[in-house]
Amino acid sequence: MPTASDYYERLGVARDADANEIKKAFRRLARELHPDVNSHDPEAEEKFKAAAEAYEVLSDPERRATYDRYGADGLRNGGFQPSGFGSFSDIFDAFFGGDVFGGGAGRGGPVQGGDVAVTATIDLAEAASGTAAEVSYDAVVVCETCHGNGAEPGTPIETCARCGGTGQLRAVTRTPFGQVVRATVCDVCGGDGRVPTSPCKTCGGRGRRVERVTVSVDVPAGISDGQRIRLSGRGHAGEHGGPPGDLYVLVRVRDDERFVRDGDDLVTVVDVSAPLAALGTSIEVPTLDGPETLEVPAGIQPNETLTLRGRGMPALRRGRRGDLRVVVNVVIPRRLSTEQRELMERLAGSLGEENLRSEEGVFSKLKRALGG
Ligand SMILES: [Zn+2]
Ligand SMILES: [Zn+2]
Repeated sequence: MPTASDYYERLGVARDADANEIKKAFRRLARELHPDVNSHDPEAEEKFKAAAEAYEVLSDPERRATYDRYGADGLRNGGFQPSGFGSFSDIFDAFFGGDVFGGGAGRGGPVQGGDVAVTATIDLAEAASGTAAEVSYDAVVVCETCHGNGAEPGTPIETCARCGGTGQLRAVTRTPFGQVVRATVCDVCGGDGRVPTSPCKTCGGRGRRVERVTVSVDVPAGISDGQRIRLSGRGHAGEHGGPPGDLYVLVRVRDDERFVRDGDDLVTVVDVSAPLAALGTSIEVPTLDGPETLEVPAGIQPNETLTLRGRGMPALRRGRRGDLRVVVNVVIPRRLSTEQRELMERLAGSLGEENLRSEEGVFSKLKRALGG
């Protein structure tokens, strides 16, 4: 458990933040670091634990006052031990009752369904052309047989005997910081306060089912790695007539070993032997639309760039495409045979000032060599 950084910094709040701001900041962090969203970040768990530790202290007025006066050491002297949580999901259950994305499980009015986060991985060429990416995920859906009330059609629904119709049970949980009384959702009625006399056979009386859902996501041309697409209403079903949550699709663009992306431009490198660079030649270069022939002018210098206009990535939401920049890597021949060596010597002997002079100044040459 890292202890170096400040608890306020970990949550990104000011030192005079009130309880509500602290809670909000922690919930936001928890959503970001939740393993469903952040499976690509191996440090997410550690980051979350660090944030949870900060939250545990700052959300408790007494402990926060101790921390403000004496720092983390003061807390340890006072018998505070950083939490020893088990699995990642235990932590989320401890803080959010297993419902970090949902709107809480209390009974009563409509509750919006939870959001779902999935990842779609596409190729660079698909990012350039735009594509339809299929994503599959488990979503909570309303049972179509009982329309969510959990009763076999035509049978009555009664008040729950276990919770007396309140939908909640009060439970005492032991945590590393002492006992916490927490209202939990009634395990018999699931928070509705009412139970069907004959549970719906399709959903077992729960009114909701988990279903594997496959959705085709329109990925716009020009999207970058790490961008998110939100599909409104494609998350988990709401409760008590609440609206469904949203689906967040994190788009990952696979690296293409032929190209480096630079904004809307693509950059590639081609080898041209020194004699051909001197003579001029035509070479084949890869483009997203297939190989293309490119004329290399005589006398091209190392790392000079040739540009194929409009062969880069499309700009997102603008029609114009970027360029493909072709960096010419002039290769000096190695391991010469005796004959090649003689030819090279004759060439070298014949070269004069005229052949080597360039209009380019030293500064401009340096800039090019340094990739400026
Ligand atoms: Zn049902
Ligand atoms: Zn109940």
